[in-house]
Amino acid sequence: MKEGKESRDQQLTVALRIRPISMVELEEGATLIAHKVDEQVVVLMDPMEDPEDILRANRSREKSYVFDMAFDFTATQEMVYRATTKGLIEGVISGYNATVFAYGPTGCGKTYTMLGTDHEPGIYARTLHDLFRAIEETSDDMEYEVSMSYLEIYNEMIRDLLNPSLGFLELREDAKGVIQVAGITEVSTINAKEVMQLLLKGNKQRMQEPTAANQTSSRSHAVLQVTVRQKSRIRNIMQEVRVGRLFMIDLAGSERASQTQNRGQRMKEGAHINRSLLALGNCINALSDKGAHKYVNYRDSKLTRLLKDSLGGNSRTVMIAHISPASSAFEESRSTLTYADRAK
Ligand code: ADP
Ligand code: MG
Repeated sequence: MKEGKESRDQQLTVALRIRPISMVELEEGATLIAHKVDEQVVVLMDPMEDPEDILRANRSREKSYVFDMAFDFTATQEMVYRATTKGLIEGVISGYNATVFAYGPTGCGKTYTMLGTDHEPGIYARTLHDLFRAIEETSDDMEYEVSMSYLEIYNEMIRDLLNPSLGFLELREDAKGVIQVAGITEVSTINAKEVMQLLLKGNKQRMQEPTAANQTSSRSHAVLQVTVRQKSRIRNIMQEVRVGRLFMIDLAGSERASQTQNRGQRMKEGAHINRSLLALGNCINALSDKGAHKYVNYRDSKLTRLLKDSLGGNSRTVMIAHISPASSAFEESRSTLTYADRAK
């Protein structure tokens, strides 16, 4: 892991998390083909079984990929949170925006990383917990107001996960040109303990449909938006001085629509998901050194429009890409590693 000023000031951080191999994968005879070799490098081995194929392939069976940080099955939720997200809190309190998102194919650990479980809470709950604590500990004369919204983007439509009965919501620009979701529920006076329950309940409202690729495939992007408003007393009147926003996003599965062998409705969803992920990918790419002079079109999807003020500029972005270590997931792992690779 890069230390010091360089990594703190870095606009885009890319982490890679390899989840533990599952019982199902082991029972189906899968072997381990993805390994973390040091704090930044992951190696993927092509599981070709036929020696003839290996000779014919005329390429190395192993390929290494470089990230800002790499995690494997030994990494705890706390370790992943501390290394990727904890450092963003200070900036958000000071009025800067930031985005953390979990990327990867269905079943590779995105929801585990972001939401987690009751016993192993993920980034959402840990961030809110530390955010509340950091604000309590600030010694300035400012007043801080924290609010959160939890929404889903499904088929390019926005739903409020804290109040799904509101139907589909629209994106609007407010008087200051800041993108807002019109009419969304904003929960403010809440303590950290209640957050997890609220999020677990909200998550049950996510659109989940079985697909050929995975029984509980998540076809939507779940977005937790946390807003910190800093207010100060100016001539005895409270005035908003700074607003910081933190987006924490559990993206829909990145597997290609073609691989899920879907037709009709599912195909349409696949196309929408790809459109959002593609638009996001283009934005991220433009932020990275790889695409230094690329034009960023935030208007290409709902997701990127929503994130317009929180990607690039003074904002910091963290991508946590997820893979399975199993041989059966080789193609998906390879495309995820290629998408997320930090090497120039
Ligand atoms: P995704 O959201 O990417 O579709 P999930 O987060 O639902 O994937 O993970 C799939 C399964 O693997 C879940 O049962 C989850 O609890 C488990 N899992 C994922 N990552 C880990 C991990 N790092 N440690 C333990 N179990 C994990
Ligand atoms: Mg999920």
